[in-house]
Amino acid sequence: MIRARFAPSPTGSLHVGSARTALFNWLFVRANNGRLLLRFDDTDSDRSEVELEPAILADLEWLGLDWDDGPVHQSDRVARYEEVLAELPVSRRDGAYEFEGRVIARSDGSPLYHLATAVDDVDDAISHVLRGRDHLTNTELQIAIIRAMGAEPPEYVHAPLIIFEGGAKISKREGSGAVSVADLRAAGFPASAVCNALALSLADYGTEELMLSLPAMASRFDLERLHSADSQFDEDKLHWISGHHIREMDASAFGGFLAEFGSGSLPEVAVEAAQTGGDTFVECAAVGHALVDPPLPDDEALDAIVAPETAAAFTALDALVREWPIDVETARREFDALKGALKAEGISLGTALHGLRAVLTGRTQGPEFPYVLATLTPERFAKARSQLSVT
Ligand code: GLU
Repeated sequence: MIRARFAPSPTGSLHVGSARTALFNWLFVRANNGRLLLRFDDTDSDRSEVELEPAILADLEWLGLDWDDGPVHQSDRVARYEEVLAELPVSRRDGAYEFEGRVIARSDGSPLYHLATAVDDVDDAISHVLRGRDHLTNTELQIAIIRAMGAEPPEYVHAPLIIFEGGAKISKREGSGAVSVADLRAAGFPASAVCNALALSLADYGTEELMLSLPAMASRFDLERLHSADSQFDEDKLHWISGHHIREMDASAFGGFLAEFGSGSLPEVAVEAAQTGGDTFVECAAVGHALVDPPLPDDEALDAIVAPETAAAFTALDALVREWPIDVETARREFDALKGALKAEGISLGTALHGLRAVLTGRTQGPEFPYVLATLTPERFAKARSQLSVT
């Protein structure tokens, strides 16, 4: 029976590196019909905070990483660690208990990480310990404790690490090198995109396809395909993946997510538009609000507005649509007709639509063009007319 464990120390909110370890274990057990145990490494009572556990559980749930057994707590198993300690060939130095030159229990006999973890991995019948390379130096000692208990050690696999220094804008915003799952959630990344990006940083899935769901990754996950080198956390790639996940979402699911980011006051058409215009829920919400209440044109928009093609596009649109507002279906038809008319007049489509978007929305980027039209009001159309001084 394949059995793995995810063993966070409840000393802070769930860091992305820890979430990645959880995902590593999750993918492995789901790929191999195994079982996943959630265990809190909370023997370090100075640093472990029981209040942090609900947040860690909520982060795992948000990511979609479920477990089969637990959560169990090392703090409930102290008597068992003391029992094993009494059987081990230990030495005392400053009172503390040492095994093979390393401290495994305090002078009062209370267990430290190595002892508790080795005992648990045996008692929990863990077949595979999957964790980051930062634990590589712990493995030899844990194997030695397990052998001294007369047990067979599990298999250990250490994944390359993900490095957050330097590039991560999110961690800079938070003013530390750490990025937590909660930071990514607040920045508006969908959980599916976070899992997708983290999973790609762990292994290769034997496909060129980058957009993968959790079940698709689990069905392709293979320890043989684990990456060998550490990698930098690639926020741009996460952004890109996130945009794809958002655009592929079912519209009602998207609407539900966007509501968490303050889209409550937006009309349905603006929510629909928002799904086409941003890479994160935060960006999408901003796009939706900007459509309903356009910002003043930025410099790029001002440049685009003065192009002669912009006035030509506006005039062509004015000839096509006699009355605003229009619905999305009509907007799609009129948009096609507009492109046809501009082409027939030999006007550069790219420049004309760039400028038209700028004068109608104040920005040169945004949702698919038909949505710009479907959210226009007569007042805003008139305002654009006066800005362009066309009659
Ligand atoms: N509690 C340890 C950590 O959070 C993990 C221990 C292990 O995987 O053995 O880093």
